[in-house]
Amino acid sequence: MSEPTRTPLIAGNWKMNGSLAGSEPLLREIVAGVSELTGVDVLVCPPYVYLQSVASWLGGTAVRLGSQDVSEHAGAGAFTGEIAAAMLKDFGCDYAIVGHSERRALFGDTDERVAAKFLAAQGAGLTPILCVGETLEQREQGQTQAVVASQVQAVLDAAGVAAFANAVIAYEPVWAIGTGRTATPEQAQEVHAEIRAMIAALDATIAAQLTVLYGGSVKGANAAELLAMDDIDGGLIGGASLKADDFLAICRAASR
Ligand code: PEP
Repeated sequence: MSEPTRTPLIAGNWKMNGSLAGSEPLLREIVAGVSELTGVDVLVCPPYVYLQSVASWLGGTAVRLGSQDVSEHAGAGAFTGEIAAAMLKDFGCDYAIVGHSERRALFGDTDERVAAKFLAAQGAGLTPILCVGETLEQREQGQTQAVVASQVQAVLDAAGVAAFANAVIAYEPVWAIGTGRTATPEQAQEVHAEIRAMIAALDATIAAQLTVLYGGSVKGANAAELLAMDDIDGGLIGGASLKADDFLAICRAASR
């Protein structure tokens, strides 16, 4: 495999949190902190309704913008409540999270729908961040590798390996999300390496360049040890992305 040249990526997923008034000072602190860092890409994913304001506050800074989800329907049409990838692109998004475990568990996102969202995002010029990960029960039953592989395979089946030249995968064990229980660096590395090997079996160059994030209770205190692992290229950060100090501590741990 060729030498990887992967710039670490730290992505903040605000979920359904925050307010318009609170987002501006948070963003200003993040932007100021990130401006002092090198060798790390930073991204925030606010709720849809704040995208326009956040885009204007971020304008011209190094911090990028992403959405937390995207419609599986590529074109315009009668899809009440949905937001198309092209609309997100219009509002300055560069990335879209697809298949977050909360969407899968609470909103019925199947592997097939996640694959359709992945394709819709790419079709509009967004980089999809494909979330995969096992539940605690699946891990305890020794199914982690099979579950993660089937989630990745669903997108490979729909999009082909070439699509991963412009995509990010986030390994997020469901039992670690928002629980304070982080995967050990070794547990995370094992799954990250399996994901990369799965892609490498189809295209070694794409695999070597593929950014694979870890998500699940990442904090300033545990970021460095996770990010030190060979196949962990950054983090998808939930709770700790809502406080500038906490988020910036993670960004600093990723900075080179
Ligand atoms: C997430 O929701 O993607 C996530 C990783 O959340 P947290 O960092 O709060 O565990």
